[in-house]
Amino acid sequence: MSLLSNRAKSLKPSPTLAINAKAKAMQAQGIRVISFGAGEPDFDTPENIKKAAIKAIEEGFTKYTAVGGIDELKDAIIHKFQRDNQLTYKRSQILVSCGGKHSFYNLAQAIFDHGDEVIIPAPYWVSYPPMVSLAGATPVILNTKEENGFKMTPDELKRAVTPKTKALVLNSPSNPTGSAYTRKELEWIAEIAISHNFFVISDEIYEKIVYDGFEFISIASLSEEIKKRTIIVHGVAKTYSMTGWRIGYTAGPEEIISAMSNIQSQSTSNPTSISQKASVEALTGPQDEVGRMVSAFGQRRNYIVDRLNEIPGVSCYKPAGAFYVFPNFSSYYGRSYQGRRISNSTELADFFLDVARVAVVPGIEFGADPFERLSYATSMEDIKEGIDRIEDSLNKLV
Ligand SMILES: *Cc1c(COP(=O)(O)O)cnc(C)c1O
Repeated sequence: MSLLSNRAKSLKPSPTLAINAKAKAMQAQGIRVISFGAGEPDFDTPENIKKAAIKAIEEGFTKYTAVGGIDELKDAIIHKFQRDNQLTYKRSQILVSCGGKHSFYNLAQAIFDHGDEVIIPAPYWVSYPPMVSLAGATPVILNTKEENGFKMTPDELKRAVTPKTKALVLNSPSNPTGSAYTRKELEWIAEIAISHNFFVISDEIYEKIVYDGFEFISIASLSEEIKKRTIIVHGVAKTYSMTGWRIGYTAGPEEIISAMSNIQSQSTSNPTSISQKASVEALTGPQDEVGRMVSAFGQRRNYIVDRLNEIPGVSCYKPAGAFYVFPNFSSYYGRSYQGRRISNSTELADFFLDVARVAVVPGIEFGADPFERLSYATSMEDIKEGIDRIEDSLNKLV
C-alpha cells in the first residue's frame, strides 16, 4: 500500500509561493534580495476595511455564519455586479468562499467529471491546470502568441474545442501577462461558447486594476444566453489589498452555485465571519483607495515596461491590467556564466536569484518557457534597482 494518494503524488506546491519562500530565506541571512515574485499588492489594507473587521470582533461576530456567506455580503456582491457590470443576480446565484482560489476549486469539483476537457489558454495562472486535474477532468492547453498580445484568436479557440469540451477558462486581465480582452473579442468568444455549448469560467479578479482607460467588460454581461453559461470567479484580494483575508466569490447559474455550496458545506463551511464583514465594507465603502493603488501601479508599469524593452534582446508586452509583466528573455538561452549554461526559464530565474539577487517566477510555471514573470507590486526604488541588477547580470552571460 502506498502512503500517499495518486492525487497527492501528482501535485507540486504552487511555484509562486516557493520562489518567495527562497527569496525570504536569503533575506533572513542578510542578503538584500529584490523580489519581483509577489502575487499580491504591496499596499496595506485600507483603514476603513480594517475598522469594520475590528468592529465585527468587538461585537462578537465571531461564530459560524451561513455556509455560502452572510446575506449582507451577498447583497454587497449583487450590488457590485449591478453597479459595475450591469449584471443582475439573486442571492441564490452567489457563493462566498475562502478566496478566489477556493471559489475556482469548488466550481471545478461541482462541474467537472472524468472525460471532460477544459480549455486553458497559456500563459495561464499556475493553479488552473492542477485544480482541473484534481477534479478528474483534462486541461487542454491553448498556447497564445506574444505577438497577439497573449490572446486567443477565433481560429485557435475553435481548433481547441471538441465534443468533450466542458468549459473555457478566461482570465482577463490576466495573471501572468496582464493582457485583457476587449468587448469585440469577448463577443466572438461568447458566440463560440454558445454555438458549441460549453461554459465560460471568467476569472475577473483583476477587473479594477486596468490602465490607460481600458474598459473592462464581463463576458456574462454581453447577453442572457452567455450569462447562462458563465460562472464568474471574483474576490476582494487584489482590488482591496486583502490577500490574507481569504474572501472570494462566485456568481452563476443557481444549480451550479447550489452544488458548490454543498461541497463547501462538507469541507470548509463558511469563510471567516470577520473577513466577511470587512468585505462588505470593501465593496460598499469609499473606493478612492483603489484609484490611488491603480495609479501607483500604472506609473510602475510604464517604467518597468520601458526599462525591459531597452535591454538588448528582451521584449516586453505592455499589459492592459493586473500588476505583472511577462518579458521574453529567450534570446539569452544558450548563453553561459562561469561555465553555467542557461537554457530555460527555470535556469534563468535561478541565475537571477544567485547572481543578481533578484527573484522572478519562471515562465514555464505558467506554461510559457521563453518568459519570466515579474510582479511590479513593489516600490519604484526596488523596481529601478531590480532592473539595473537584471541588466547587469544579463551582460555577464556570454
Ligand atoms: C490572486 C488570484 C486569484 C485569487 O486569489 P485569492 O487570494 O484566492 O482570492 C484568482 N485568480 C487569479 C488569476 C489570481 O491571480
